[in-house]
Amino acid sequence: MLGTGIALSCPNCGGNRFGFPRTDEEQVTCEECGSEVQSLGSVKAMVGGALHRAPKPASAADKIAKRQDRHASEIEVSQAALRASVAETDRLISESDKMLRRHRREIEEDL
Ligand SMILES: [Zn+2]
Repeated sequence: MLGTGIALSCPNCGGNRFGFPRTDEEQVTCEECGSEVQSLGSVKAMVGGALHRAPKPASAADKIAKRQDRHASEIEVSQAALRASVAETDRLISESDKMLRRHRREIEEDL
């Protein structure tokens, strides 16, 4: 997924070999002719924009969003299991109730 189209070339000589400074405020310079191309900060912004269109490594925001999704689905699964359990308990109570009524009826029939 490289080659996302970051076209960086020297406006003076068209060269594409650059010297990069230490800070964003300093200028990236052309290694061919030595002219200043643009600040490192703006190059980074350009690269960042290109990377934004490409698959990017998970940022902190992505991690938080993924965690929220995971938590939500975990809660959903847990709640579904709980609801199923409650429904099963209801069913068993109802079954038990019917059974006891049947037992009582059977005993009464013998009297
Ligand atoms: Zn140049």
